[in-house]
Amino acid sequence: MIRKDLLTTTCSWEAGVGEIHMDERFDFVIVGGGHNGTTLAAYLAKSGYSTCVLEARPECGGGQENTEPVPGFRIDPHATYLYGGAAPGFEQLELWKYGFRQVYYKSMGGMVTSDGQAVSIGARFSPDRAQADIERYTSGGQGFAGLMNSLMGDSMKELLRALFWTPPYPHDMDFEPGDLPWAQVMRKIAPAFWSERFLDMTLVEMLDEFIDWEPIKVAQCLAAWYCGAHPTWEGQALPSLGGTLLLGYGSGAPRGGMHTYAHAIIRCALAHGTRILTNSPVREIIVQDGKARGVILDEDASFAGKTIWADKAVVSAVDAQATMLNLIGKDHLDPSFTQRVKDINLKGGSLYVISLITTEMPKYKADIDAFPYEEYPSCVVYPSDSYENLYAQTRDVYSKKSAPEIDIDHMTLMVCTHDQYDPTRCPDGYHVISPIYLQMPPPEYDVDGPDAVHRRVPEDPPAGRTQHERIDNSRCFREHSMGFRVPQHRHDCRELVCDPPL
Ligand SMILES: Cc1cc2nc3c(=O)[nH]c(=O)nc-3n(C[C@H](O)[C@H](O)[C@H](O)COP(=O)(O)OP(=O)(O)OC[C@H]3O[C@@H](n4cnc5c(N)ncnc54)[C@H](O)[C@@H]3O)c2cc1C
Repeated sequence: MIRKDLLTTTCSWEAGVGEIHMDERFDFVIVGGGHNGTTLAAYLAKSGYSTCVLEARPECGGGQENTEPVPGFRIDPHATYLYGGAAPGFEQLELWKYGFRQVYYKSMGGMVTSDGQAVSIGARFSPDRAQADIERYTSGGQGFAGLMNSLMGDSMKELLRALFWTPPYPHDMDFEPGDLPWAQVMRKIAPAFWSERFLDMTLVEMLDEFIDWEPIKVAQCLAAWYCGAHPTWEGQALPSLGGTLLLGYGSGAPRGGMHTYAHAIIRCALAHGTRILTNSPVREIIVQDGKARGVILDEDASFAGKTIWADKAVVSAVDAQATMLNLIGKDHLDPSFTQRVKDINLKGGSLYVISLITTEMPKYKADIDAFPYEEYPSCVVYPSDSYENLYAQTRDVYSKKSAPEIDIDHMTLMVCTHDQYDPTRCPDGYHVISPIYLQMPPPEYDVDGPDAVHRRVPEDPPAGRTQHERIDNSRCFREHSMGFRVPQHRHDCRELVCDPPL
């Protein structure tokens, strides 16, 4: 028999070398070592609290992950752009001291239509870039350019902080919609454009007032959709636009990929004294007298069955359903609350992701002057044609069918190419075209279960694998189909195909 009080061992590098006892106490115990859990830990530890982060996987970072499916070729399987760049945490936690480096792109994005029109939107530092391109196709974008110009620099940061980093008003406080923090900021920074009507509008309605060229509006709406606030939600015009501004404010990505950002946060949390245990899935949150008092680790954790007590709070930084239904359990919850948690439906799509290695950048059959090599957009929306196509794709994704019904050639891809600006992503002479994103219905919502999408592939052409075929087997890259010229030596990172050998 092992005496618990004598059990000690060393732990992983992320925890630092030290002694681990079977029972420990901290002020705060945080479940989940993604960027939210580790950031919170860094703040709490910096404020003088003893803090422990428990991460199920062998490494922290969660969705901020990098992998090298082929040695030397680095991809972001999940998050790829720094939406959080305007957050106060970068300054408050002094992340640059812990190795955070951002690479800024000359052109953050672009869009190409099926019939070959192309626009580069430039970056935050080149506000007139998009306007110059749009004017090749329309003279009606001045209003939008004016609005964007008024949001440049610190104004954009202030608006984004008001939208995404300001706590909500207390629920019992009376306030008018015009008192919302972001409405106040808009009144201040863009008085010539601000209208109370924006409070009721959708993003589509707002863009329709400013621009008369549909492809650029479709690209904006797609970016808003990817960021969470759908462009047709009433009253969400500014939050939806804010989603796209998050990308614009970042105007780049962490050097080396998103996991380098996670490392800066982890180093910061450790430097302030946080204890981080990896390989430590939490099985249960201990509830006593209606309060969370600690956690018990799973049987397959490095410290199987270990109990860790929290004197002040247990914080879960994993999703609400897993937290409430699995870690806390319905015995500790009001039945109506349990039902409300079960009813949570994220209503989102699933991102189908592909990564390719090439020796050329993708060449679109388009008005190619828009994409000079040294200003190649890091993310191209393709094809960005019409609201009609965007809505058809949205309907497919939200209606939870496993097989999209829209003509697959009209489903819009986001094609990202970080290495144009960040040489750490791959060796000289190669490019990593990654990620290529496509919104799909979530497999989890399939009436026949999450694996049905795979089982259905052979007899149901529009389903999952066909999207892969569309991208990888040249339908989209073929010279004559959709405008992409075939990049030379196309390799599929996912299948580790290398020809010629790398
Ligand atoms: C395909 C894709 C693309 C995206 N693109 C972007 C982008 O470009 N830019 C951007 O900013 N965001 C993007 N996101 C969103 C971003 O990844 C998430 O918002 C972010 O990862 C959320 O961080 P988090 O810490 O809340 O949760 P997560 O990153 O999910 O971390 C949760 C952590 O908890 C751990 N965990 C779970 N259960 C337990 C348990 N029982 N015990 C212990 N640990 C547990 C998990 O292993 C994980 O490490 C993307 C997401 C996806 C999926």
